[in-house]
Amino acid sequence: PTEPWYIGGPVIKGFGRGSKVLGIPTANLSTKGHWSLLSEHPSGVYFGWAGLSTRGVYKMVMSIGWNPYFNNTEKTIEPWLLHEFNEDFYGEELRLVIVGYIRPEVNFPSLESLIGKIQEDRRIAERALDLPVYSKHKDDPYLISSL
Ligand code: ADP
Ligand code: MG
Repeated sequence: PTEPWYIGGPVIKGFGRGSKVLGIPTANLSTKGHWSLLSEHPSGVYFGWAGLSTRGVYKMVMSIGWNPYFNNTEKTIEPWLLHEFNEDFYGEELRLVIVGYIRPEVNFPSLESLIGKIQEDRRIAERALDLPVYSKHKDDPYLISSL
């Protein structure tokens, strides 16, 4: 494992493509001000810990990139928090400690194959984050420093 890296900001509106309907809601963060971090880290799928002000710290699996399946022209930061929430949390401060990388961004021939791969990413993230090398970052003060 390499050093973790950090991104935070208020949860913004995404494209509203119904990822929630697919069971894969992603709490989008603005890419503004994060250009240098994003250029240091390739597009792809990462995992780590997410701190949500007033709520807690959760496992997360995250896509950073262009979402080729949807032909985006803008890069996005989209963590899926691995927890069931009873409501949306747009506007809340979200802190991410990114501890590991799963795979590069690739295109998929169908929505089904995209969703299948994301579910596999989730299982990999869930298990990896239980390992001491990754679970120790759950206590990083950055995650809750906005509470
Ligand atoms: P958008 O396109 O606006 O990002 P999504 O369909 O990706 O919409 O849904 C994301 C929103 O759903 C988040 O901004 C958040 O308010 C809410 N949400 C609820 N549960 C979760 C979760 N487990 N992980 C991420 N976001 C969640
Ligand atoms: Mg989203």
